[in-house]
This record gives sequence, C-alpha cells and structure tokens, in this order.
Amino acid sequence: MQYFLNRLLYLILLLGLVPASVMAETTQRGGIVLSFDDWFVDQWHGFFTELKTTNPEIEPYSTFFVSHWLTDIKGVNQNRVGNESHYVKLKQLEDAGHEIAAHGLNHIGARAAPYNLACDQANAYVTAEVQPGLAAMAQGDPGLANDYGFIPKSFSYPYGERSTFYDNAIKTTTGVRYLRGTFDTDFTKPLKNTDAIYHRVTDANYPYLIGDGIDSVYQNDVAEVKEALDRASTNDEVITLYAHRILMPGESSNYGIQAAKLKEIILYAHSKGLKFYRFNEAFAEAPETMDTCGGNSGGGSGDPNSITFSYAEDKGNNTYRVGLQWTNLPNDVIHIALASQPATALANASTGGAASGRIGINVPNVVAGTAYVAVAKSGSTTIATSAPFIILAGNSSP
Ligand SMILES: [Zn+2]
Repeated sequence: MQYFLNRLLYLILLLGLVPASVMAETTQRGGIVLSFDDWFVDQWHGFFTELKTTNPEIEPYSTFFVSHWLTDIKGVNQNRVGNESHYVKLKQLEDAGHEIAAHGLNHIGARAAPYNLACDQANAYVTAEVQPGLAAMAQGDPGLANDYGFIPKSFSYPYGERSTFYDNAIKTTTGVRYLRGTFDTDFTKPLKNTDAIYHRVTDANYPYLIGDGIDSVYQNDVAEVKEALDRASTNDEVITLYAHRILMPGESSNYGIQAAKLKEIILYAHSKGLKFYRFNEAFAEAPETMDTCGGNSGGGSGDPNSITFSYAEDKGNNTYRVGLQWTNLPNDVIHIALASQPATALANASTGGAASGRIGINVPNVVAGTAYVAVAKSGSTTIATSAPFIILAGNSSP
C-alpha cells in the first residue's frame, strides 16, 4: 500500500511540474474562429492595426476570406501603391499572424447558374471560380521585392452555398483543404444553442465548418455573443463566427459589425481564455470522399444499400421515430417519403455532410402497412434512395 501511495505522490508531483504551456498544447481548449469575408481590406487592416496598439497582450488571429482579387475597385489590384495598396495591407495582416484565405474570383455562389449546385457542375465551378482566384493570389505583386504571393489553405463559399460534391471537387483539384459554409440564421434560437457552429478540436475530423454571422443583419447582440463564448469556454469547444465590414462610429451596414462591438467581443473572448484559431488550424479536416454523382448522370438513385432502415420507435399520436444508417454516402439531408412519392418529404433531418452515420427522424401520421423510403440528398440532388421499408406493420386503411 505504501508503495502505491508513494507512486501516487510521485505522479502528482510530476504533473505539477509540467509547464502550463505544454499542458495547453496537449489538452482540449476552447476557442474562437473569427473570420471576415469579401474585400473590406482597409477596414480590417485599420481595426486590427489599432487593436495591436491598444491591446498588445491579445493575439486575435483571424481569417480573411478575400474575393474580387483581380477585378474592379473592390479588389486588390486597384493601382494603389505602397502602404495604401490592399495587397500590402493583406501582407501586413498575414505578417501579424492572421490567415489570408480565398473566397472565389468573382464572388459567384455555387447555387448560381449555370452551376445550380448541381453535382455534375462541381468541377466547372471550381475551374471558373475557385482555381483562378487561387492563381491570382499566388501570383503576388510583381512590383514588390521578395514577394511570393499568397497560398491559401482555406476557402469560404460565397453565400455559404456548398455541397459535398463541391467540397470534394475543391479538395481533389486544388491545394485547399479547409472549407467554411454559413449557418442559415435562426433568429429565434440563441447563438449559444446553435450547435452547428461549435466543434471540438481533438474529437473528430470535419469535412467543413459552418459559421454564424455577427454583422448587424444577423441580430446577435453583444450579450448573446458573450453567452455563446461562455459556452465555448465552459465546454472547451470552438465557435465559428464571421462578419464582413468593420464599421466606424456613424457608419452603418447590414453586412457590417461596429468596431466597438467587435472589440468588446474580442476582449471578452480573451478574458475567457479562448484561443483565437486561424481557420486552417481550427480543425482536423476530413478527406474527400470518392463518391461520384449518384448512380447515373441524372443525379440518380444511387446504391440503395448505402442507406438502410434500422428501427421504428412509437412516439405516440401516430408519430414514429425512424432510425436510419448510411455508409460511404456523404449527404447534407435525409428525408422520409412514401415509396410511391419519393420526392415528397414527410420529414427530414440535416446530416452535416458526414460520409457515414446514424440518425433518427420523427415521422408523423404513419400509415400501417405502407411502404416508405429514405432519400439522401446533397444540395438539391438526390444521391441515394433506400429500399422500401414498412414503419408500422398491419393493413393500411382502405
Ligand atoms: Zn462573401
């Protein structure tokens, strides 16, 4: 017994001697992914330059997803020179520890024509919007000495319009591995209850992250954001947020956040011990899948064995919780339908793009003896339909 007590004491002493910095690297830690989209380089640069002066103790590493790289006055190439050039300002932000990432060449969404988020248009989208933006960023500025351009590791989809097939196309044809979508804001739900924007650093791989907006239009006030940061701190989770403009007093924009509000959020996150993660360091990314566009060129029904019915649980009032399982079938949403009308969803659930998993979906008004199917979709494209199954045995009413 004495031996074990000595061992225990030794272990306690050893743990006490491990420097805090080493412990922090090896344990789960809550954090914040702060990201900014589009082309508001002057505002981003002004805000973070000033913050560095007023609060040098904070390392507020953020990620700037930049669009319109080459074109028009929004872009980087605007004939501004020296320290007034957007390009130079982005270089200075990068030197200060921020991540400069990609957001499309012309800010065209994947849901726009001719892509329509169709599975068989994913490569065309990448060729037209993603690749040229990356090439322009890598080109650098010929006027600068020792300039090597930007090599983005991360991409955020304009308007958050993405699907698994677009993720795959980017990952297989570019060097970009870290993808961000956006959450369809639910104004009735507090930010702290929006599970989709939280993840844990060490638990899993993620095919992409989604963020929620903190611009004015998203109606998340400072108190609500602070509560959301409290959750991240308490649970050692990472929260992903995004904004566009940074507004000075007197300025207003739906797609902007007041500088004072942003500063208060950053100071609060720091006070709660949250780490500011650059986007490409915030999560372990899941590799692309080998799935192609369904079983045939029309989007098809895929392999029915890749999605299977596993149980039905009576929840009362003719509602049944239907358990499903899918394998090697990355999809965004699964719905339940009558086998006779597979396109008409009776109930559905978001699956978050995982390649394999299980889910329970509550189906109301279940009819005895009637065949149902489960349909997996990526964007608006059906990628697999299960074999028909019966939820409730018996004879259907005449
Ligand atoms: Zn954008």
